[in-house]
Amino acid sequence: MRSFVYEALPARVVFGAGRLAAVADEAGRLGLGRALVIASASQAAAAERIRADLGARAAGLVAEAVMHVPRERAEAARALARETAADGLIAIGGGSAVGLAKAVALALGLPILAVPTTYAGSEMTAIWGMTEAGAKTTGRDPKVLPKTVVYDPELTRDLPLRIAGPSGLNALAHSVEALYARDRNPVVALIAEESVRVMAEGLRAIAARAYDAEGRAQALYGACLCGLALGGSTMGIHHKLCHVLGGAFDLPHAETHAALLPYAAAFNAPVAAEAMAAIARALGAESAATGLWDLGRAVGAPPSLAALGLAEADLDRAAGIASAAPYPNPRPAGRADVCALLAQAWRGARPEGA
Ligand code: NAD
Repeated sequence: MRSFVYEALPARVVFGAGRLAAVADEAGRLGLGRALVIASASQAAAAERIRADLGARAAGLVAEAVMHVPRERAEAARALARETAADGLIAIGGGSAVGLAKAVALALGLPILAVPTTYAGSEMTAIWGMTEAGAKTTGRDPKVLPKTVVYDPELTRDLPLRIAGPSGLNALAHSVEALYARDRNPVVALIAEESVRVMAEGLRAIAARAYDAEGRAQALYGACLCGLALGGSTMGIHHKLCHVLGGAFDLPHAETHAALLPYAAAFNAPVAAEAMAAIARALGAESAATGLWDLGRAVGAPPSLAALGLAEADLDRAAGIASAAPYPNPRPAGRADVCALLAQAWRGARPEGA
């Protein structure tokens, strides 16, 4: 008999090529009279365009969001929001820009309008994160969930494959773990399976032809669905390991997700048959793990943790940190299991037989 809990997170999604032009109107619809614009450095030009469109309704611009929201950056952005009497935030850029806006919203309760330009998916979640002295703290708070999300695939036109590929696999990791999550449910499963299909199709199109407009739109739509899957589920061993490798070993966020994902799927495969079948179906692959590995190679994602600079000697320490405070995972994992999983990802061979 069916039995589940599904909680929809309220957000208005506006999607389409050229929708950047709608941001000022959408800000008006949210009632923003003085919006602080927070941008990734790469999106400075688009951020300036938003500021110009807002005119007197722009409170200022922060164009220096960096990875993992260092506390001092968050404090500086909060101070600016207070000084300029901002009544809302417009985040444009990758997960780092959205993350910085969330840190401000968490402290000041200001509404966020997000314009994502990577596939990180943070814009669809109520999850915030902040880093201090090398340690990242995360939490969930409805205050940080963007009220409106404007997706404009044209903003991702120049996202190079070396960022788009890992970013897309980072997004897929949310859906993969949503499918075997402790709190999985049929509504999120529907979204997650479709997200895998759509994202894989989009990434393959971009890999074949960088400026493929359909592919760009498809991948960004996939990212939206992957973000929904993340927002509606509790993540497992894969996310735990990525957080450890990013936090304690300074490995790059999206690339680490990309290198690890096939092996996390292979590890959980024996106890998550339904999830693996959905992923394999969506990828058109013989198994989830090999399908994810093949997709990674097709989009030029880093093939292994070794390629990201992790020393083999660090695997055991990483396993120790991860297994000391595990995330809920369908297959229990002791330190030796985690170490074996990490060793496979470190080598990067195709996970045959998973
Ligand atoms: P990012 O925001 O740092 O962007 C990666 C790089 O791509 C940056 O140099 C950025 O300037 C550049 N970039 C962004 N858009 C571009 C574009 N369209 N064209 C060219 N370059 C572009 O990294 P990310 O991978 O997007 O996000 C990672 C961060 O997001 C991490 O801190 C992660 O923890 C966080 N995150 C949070 C959640 C959540 O729900 N809270 C979910 C996913 C990721």
